[in-house]
Amino acid sequence: MRLSQMYIRTLREVPNEAEIPSHIWLLRAGMIRKLVSGVYGFMPLGFRSIRKIEEIIRQEMDAKGGQEIHMSALQPAELWQESGRWYAYGPEMWRIKDRNEREFCLGPTHEEIFTDIVRSEVSSYRQLPLNLYQIQTKYRDEKRPRFGLMRSREFVMKDAYSFDKDWEGLDKSYRDMYDAYEKVFTRCGLVFRAVEADTGAIGGSASHEFTALSDVGESEIAYCGQCDMAATTERAACVDAPASNEQELPMEKVLTPGTKTIEEVSNFLGVDQSKTIKALLFKVCGEKEDEFEYVAAFIRGDRELNMTKLINALGIPEHSIEFADESQMAEATGCVGGFTGPVGIHDCKVVVDSELAGLKNLVAGACEVDHHIKNVNYGRDYNGDIVTDLKLLKAGDQCPVCGAPVKLARGIEVGQVFKLGTKYSKAMGAYYKDENMEDKIIIMGCYGIGVTRTLAAIVEQHHDENGIIWPMTVAPYHAIVTVVNTSDEAQTKLAETLYQKLLDSGVEALIDDRNERPGVKFKDADILGIPVRITVGKKAAEGMVEFKLRRDKEIMELSADEALEKAV
Ligand code: ATP
Ligand code: MG
Ligand code: MG
Ligand code: MG
Repeated sequence: MRLSQMYIRTLREVPNEAEIPSHIWLLRAGMIRKLVSGVYGFMPLGFRSIRKIEEIIRQEMDAKGGQEIHMSALQPAELWQESGRWYAYGPEMWRIKDRNEREFCLGPTHEEIFTDIVRSEVSSYRQLPLNLYQIQTKYRDEKRPRFGLMRSREFVMKDAYSFDKDWEGLDKSYRDMYDAYEKVFTRCGLVFRAVEADTGAIGGSASHEFTALSDVGESEIAYCGQCDMAATTERAACVDAPASNEQELPMEKVLTPGTKTIEEVSNFLGVDQSKTIKALLFKVCGEKEDEFEYVAAFIRGDRELNMTKLINALGIPEHSIEFADESQMAEATGCVGGFTGPVGIHDCKVVVDSELAGLKNLVAGACEVDHHIKNVNYGRDYNGDIVTDLKLLKAGDQCPVCGAPVKLARGIEVGQVFKLGTKYSKAMGAYYKDENMEDKIIIMGCYGIGVTRTLAAIVEQHHDENGIIWPMTVAPYHAIVTVVNTSDEAQTKLAETLYQKLLDSGVEALIDDRNERPGVKFKDADILGIPVRITVGKKAAEGMVEFKLRRDKEIMELSADEALEKAV
């Protein structure tokens, strides 16, 4: 490609909104373009690198027997209601309606969709195991979209789902994916660690996060020099720890379970009545499927509360409600199974839906049996929506496995693998018939890689004060031939010959044939970070060029042929 014809615009200044190197350099290199907060488009060079990452992922997924499909980003609410996540997912889910008021979401992830395919199309043990994946656009209305591609509201993810006959099958599928992820991130040139993680809103029994080490990363990991313990700091608090994470905080006022009026409950809670109703509805609506729609719409604030209609719909006596005690609340919030309910500990952080702030003596859970905090009180134990409450490990604390002092590091979560088990297959009825024609439940796993976030993580680990330094595997182009003076015939001729020879030998090459000052060209080449640079200048007439690798300082003076040989 000729730079004189290429659609490219590098920036001399650091864009205002960019704080971290990957965001700065991807913008300055003209690789990405912001549309609105958390939504980016890819320009020619950026898109080439994205495609390279995708190709690496495809190869490693296919090597493990993964089969690529492509599902819609638009997903009907009904499937999410079946799994129970329609409400549980919270405001990060992008909800929309069609012209007939039917509800949809723009998928933040695809467990429901893939489970739906398999339950309707897999019937026999002969069809299992199965691994289906896609590379597709996801939508999450992140509370704080930031750092460019790192945390955006629209992003590309590779998501894979495994379907097995039994738990041993899942173990193998999980190991295969783990192995594939190590290969993918190694090929992308990342320095990373796979660490044990919580299962969070996705749910399931075991999980690992793949974390690219970086000081600007939003994840903190704890690892041990003595043993192989490595986990997110939240998770490390729970790793192999005895059930002592079960904490009981002092109780505030207690409302005895039984039948109360809404007014009584509201007075007790010190909140207005509509809040109490919302809290209660959450419990009730989980059990009454046909009323779910109405209630969900109300909870989201799409509909006004009509008390009479509501009470009729729910079939409860007017002004009389049953107050959920703490165990019912725990059940309703689903925190044991890994739902992020109105209150629950997600990644071991207490998360409270602001709608429910004001309820007292709640149970918060770390998505794991015996890892709960009882009597969590808004205002007292947390304020706002997230407050860390579990004993997060600090540097030097004892490793929960061997007791040695732990070390901490920061990183970027580029991927995560989950053993889902039967969470979705059970909720949505995904079964197969075994050899004896008996119905057996399908055991699932899911595996995500943030493709666009991986691009940012690579830049984070591969840049200097002048720009990006692409690893060859994901570089938009391998080599750039720079013509110092385009009005010098000898230079142009030699550069064109070199460029053509590079292309002929399969090197993805650029030629900077723009009529610009050499300084501008060199600066741009630095920003773009193309791994191999061949400069054709004054010595062109003698057949000599300068050869330089972007990552090295050293410049070699070589004959054109030698340079070509080195570049190929
Ligand atoms: P985070 O903890 O950073 O919010 P997550 O745990 O919510 O991420 P997953 O549900 O595990 O994300 O999704 C799989 C992968 O998708 C993540 O490992 C990450 O690489 C990527 N990803 C998630 N959220 C975003 C986002 N907002 N922008 C870009 N990539 C994302
Ligand atoms: Mg998230
Ligand atoms: Mg995460
Ligand atoms: Mg994750």
